Amino acid sequence: MAITISTNFESASIRCLSIKEPGEIQLELRDDPIGGERYWYYFRLLGVRGKECRLTINNAADAFRLAEREELDIPGPYVDYRACASYDRVNWFRIPTEFKDGLLTFTIKSERDSVYFASFAPYSHERHMNLIDHALTSKAASLEVLGKTHRDNDIELLKIGSGDPETRSCWICARQHPSETMAEWFTEGLLEGLLDNNNAISRSLLSKATFYVVPCMNPDGAWSGRTRRNGGDVDLNREWVTPSMEKSPEVFLVQQRMQETNVDFFMDVHGDEELPYVFLGGPLEVPSVTKKMESNFRHFQDVLQTVNPDYRRGYEYPGGPPPNPDLRMAWNYIGETYRCLSILVEQPFKDCTHAKDITQGWSPERSKELGNASLTAIHAVLDSL
Ligand SMILES: [Zn+2]
Repeated sequence: MAITISTNFESASIRCLSIKEPGEIQLELRDDPIGGERYWYYFRLLGVRGKECRLTINNAADAFRLAEREELDIPGPYVDYRACASYDRVNWFRIPTEFKDGLLTFTIKSERDSVYFASFAPYSHERHMNLIDHALTSKAASLEVLGKTHRDNDIELLKIGSGDPETRSCWICARQHPSETMAEWFTEGLLEGLLDNNNAISRSLLSKATFYVVPCMNPDGAWSGRTRRNGGDVDLNREWVTPSMEKSPEVFLVQQRMQETNVDFFMDVHGDEELPYVFLGGPLEVPSVTKKMESNFRHFQDVLQTVNPDYRRGYEYPGGPPPNPDLRMAWNYIGETYRCLSILVEQPFKDCTHAKDITQGWSPERSKELGNASLTAIHAVLDSL
């Protein structure tokens, strides 16, 4: 069988330049339209059983945020990065990866005819549908389709709890950036915990709060293998001040629903290409920040690191957050608008420096555990929101 690259499937993204032999496979990352970011890849390599393969991404030097990091104390996306590979798209493992002279090269001796590679373990639309269907087996859960995206995907909101106006409204949005699949893995873990009748934390949470969960804010980008943009070619996490049905219906419709429910707690879940640890952003820089928002954020951090030490306080964004918050970003916008505890969750594409997993690095399983653990942290602050 000839050696070939295949990308004709959901979320796939790469450009094959040439294959001379297994040890010389030349590839290019695709950019998001229009002039958008370059980071995500997901593809299949065929005809390589028993062969030593060497794959080189030639345009990695222009990857997302690489150039702007050169002068800074931030490692860039490929320092200590290892590519993810899988034979079955279920079990993902890390492979030797090198970034040198602008070339990203990974090597594998393939055990099978077919092997997949990705920036991080993908989260498929099939799995997304299973997640929704499974949630709806619970009497506490209901589904609202807020509207349609540019490409006719449903913008789905799971409501869990009574919706009684006396309860707190806790909003969780994930995957505004479609390549950050760990965000939806996180949400899967959170939903599994929340819908577990035998989980005392969840029963207590649902007696006092209603959860509004958007497991995938950007289904168009997820489907078509984009790094950050939606079907309207914009970065949704820069749309929160002026969302529109033309460019960002996902944000526009979620905000409309938030106005009806009010927001007492907000968590926006992401992945970070550069930093080798989990970190959180609080609503600490917004103009209307209150002492209560600050103390609730610190308490949330303390409880989360106790329940799941993959998160550890002290690992922050280098240099700290900018003093003037970008209100176009969801967590700042919601913190300012609703004067509530509003949290940005960032998980690594790489691994956690203080808690390494040699085989998997950061993984779907760890994302799910962190999502589940976040319920305990929400529970700890709920009465003082
Ligand atoms: Zn993001």
